[in-house]
Amino acid sequence: MIYAKFHTNSGERIKYHKSSFVWQGIKFAKTINKPFIGWIIGNGKKINFWRDSWATCTPLREHIDLPNHIWKLCTAKVSDFINSDGWNVPSNISLTFLAMGVDITSIPCNPNDEDIQILNPDIHGEFSVKNVFESTHNRLDTAWWWKFTWLKCLHPGLSGFAWQLINQILPTDELIQRKGIQLMSICNHCGCTAKMADHLFFECTKAKVLWNWTISTFNLAGVSEHESRKQILDKSKALSLYLNDLWITMVFSVSYWLWNVRNKFRFDERKLSIREIQNRVLREIDNNAKMSKHGMYNTAFELQVIKALSVD
Ligand SMILES: [Zn+2]
Repeated sequence: MIYAKFHTNSGERIKYHKSSFVWQGIKFAKTINKPFIGWIIGNGKKINFWRDSWATCTPLREHIDLPNHIWKLCTAKVSDFINSDGWNVPSNISLTFLAMGVDITSIPCNPNDEDIQILNPDIHGEFSVKNVFESTHNRLDTAWWWKFTWLKCLHPGLSGFAWQLINQILPTDELIQRKGIQLMSICNHCGCTAKMADHLFFECTKAKVLWNWTISTFNLAGVSEHESRKQILDKSKALSLYLNDLWITMVFSVSYWLWNVRNKFRFDERKLSIREIQNRVLREIDNNAKMSKHGMYNTAFELQVIKALSVD
């Protein structure tokens, strides 16, 4: 009953305000708890295909950027892909899952049983106040990336990418191989075969040139694969809030283009030059900077940075 009250017919959480004293709590606890809720798949009738975490650790809904009115039409249940013999998934859908590193056929399902919702952190999968408290409590302490990925100045597209990047759920070759799918792994920028994620984002010559450009623009110490993402994002701390916004946007944007250019080349066979990537990064920073509400210091250095990035 509570579920029906706070969700639309397609299973989306309602966007408007309900005058109910539990509403605030539900809004808060549900987002935090969501990653911990999993399913033992039976016939799939209770599981929302797009909005529940049944195949991936985050719901598919969060991997895909679509306008809301289209999401309303996405009402599939997992049961739509299960028949009496088990999985019955069209090949284009199973290929999409493979690209995300998930082999659906390896997920157990039992057409003769009901689905059971479980709480992942508990070995018996049971809900209890104690379990929920422990999982959410830890999460609040460790989710340092929230303040970066939900920054006001970031467009939803870039913040979605940033969220995937920081949570290490981009479908890199490594991730796909870890799921047991054989794949030849070659860097599309330079052609070498190396440990992909580190190579793609840091060690590749193209990545090095772009990071050097980034840090010299902000006059900061070098970026290396030995640093955590948090250390990199925190480098600009001494600067004004506006320049912090610009730095964080630039770090995400450079990462995004390193990632995107790799995909572009793989699927469209089109290679972008460093100059072309830089232009795209600059355009993206300019678009995002317009949304920043923060101020800057009136120093020669800060003015020099915004001039180099050609933003307001
Ligand atoms: Zn490379």
